[in-house]
Amino acid sequence: MAVLVYIESSKGKIKKTGFEVAYYGSKLATSLRTDCVALLIGKTEDPGSPGKYGVSKVVHVNADQDLEFDSQSYASIIAQISGDNNADTIILANTANGKAMTGRLAIKLEAGSVSGANSLPELNDDFVVSKSVYSGKAIVKYAIETPKKVISVMGNTIQPQIIGESIVPQNVTFPIASTTLKVLERKTTEGITPLPEAELVVSAGRGMKGPENWGIIEELASSLGATTACSRPVADSHWRPHYEHVGQTGVAIRPNLYIAAGISGAIQHLAGVNNSKVIVVINKDPEAPFFKAADYGVVGDLFEIVPKLTAAIKRFKQH
Ligand SMILES: Cc1cc2nc3c(=O)[nH]c(=O)nc-3n(C[C@H](O)[C@H](O)[C@H](O)COP(=O)(O)OP(=O)(O)OC[C@H]3O[C@@H](n4cnc5c(N)ncnc54)[C@H](O)[C@@H]3O)c2cc1C
Repeated sequence: MAVLVYIESSKGKIKKTGFEVAYYGSKLATSLRTDCVALLIGKTEDPGSPGKYGVSKVVHVNADQDLEFDSQSYASIIAQISGDNNADTIILANTANGKAMTGRLAIKLEAGSVSGANSLPELNDDFVVSKSVYSGKAIVKYAIETPKKVISVMGNTIQPQIIGESIVPQNVTFPIASTTLKVLERKTTEGITPLPEAELVVSAGRGMKGPENWGIIEELASSLGATTACSRPVADSHWRPHYEHVGQTGVAIRPNLYIAAGISGAIQHLAGVNNSKVIVVINKDPEAPFFKAADYGVVGDLFEIVPKLTAAIKRFKQH
């Protein structure tokens, strides 16, 4: 009984979350004393590379086709390949695409499923998967009792390590069934790590006073190689694009470092960011609620502190 991981790619390149699930799946397979099989769908560069993260087989479906993601047809392919490879545990990334397929797959396979797992399963007598709930205030543990299991894994849950070598994929051709979903328009942002995958995020709120002041935030982000984010009122006021809005009603993120400047730390904002590994808060109000969630806090005017921080990072990087 194998573990199957579905590896997402974008514009023909394997995503960072793809390597994370490859490593996650191979660690799980080792604990279960079984093999980890990776599945790629559509034209993908370097399709054997998941082997470096411990998978023992790569199945590459329709390797010569540029395919549009479609949750219905992709879920059918994953279900079919899981059957062909005798896989009873299927791992996906908890991305927009992964989320769109977790439920579909669980129904197709009559599997128990947990979406948004935040650690490797605990394997004692049961198969126990943890996820955070109530805006990160609690962790719930689910024992999955069905023979088949579908799990989607939060980004940055595991740091992929190279533990093997590239392998030659097995190419498979699959008829892509037409589905009831049709993509009407696609808008993508170029050149930045998308927020759900970002390891470093610099975010700002209404304390910035206006969109014209965002240069210092962009400069700080660029000095770190970080992705920019913002609070909801900032996006609602069109100071920043909506895809940057993090929180309960925006993107939920889990970076290694989250720097928040001029954000009060309302519960709805924290809901999307308090799973960050390290939180740094810059706020002129020492009573700002965000300080309670911060690992490091700076009380002061962001217009003085942010440029000083950027200068210090640039100096540090020169050495
Ligand atoms: C149903 C619902 C859902 C919501 N979902 C979200 C969500 O997903 N994400 C989200 O962000 N919000 C969300 N909100 C809004 C949320 O409640 C807060 O209103 C919002 O997060 C506040 O944004 P802010 O911190 O940028 O602004 P403010 O609350 O105005 O805070 C600005 C902060 O900047 C500080 N400041 C001002 N000037 C400076 C300076 N010069 N230097 C340093 N600090 C300075 C102030 O001390 C203050 O703490 C939601 C609200 C509701 C009701």
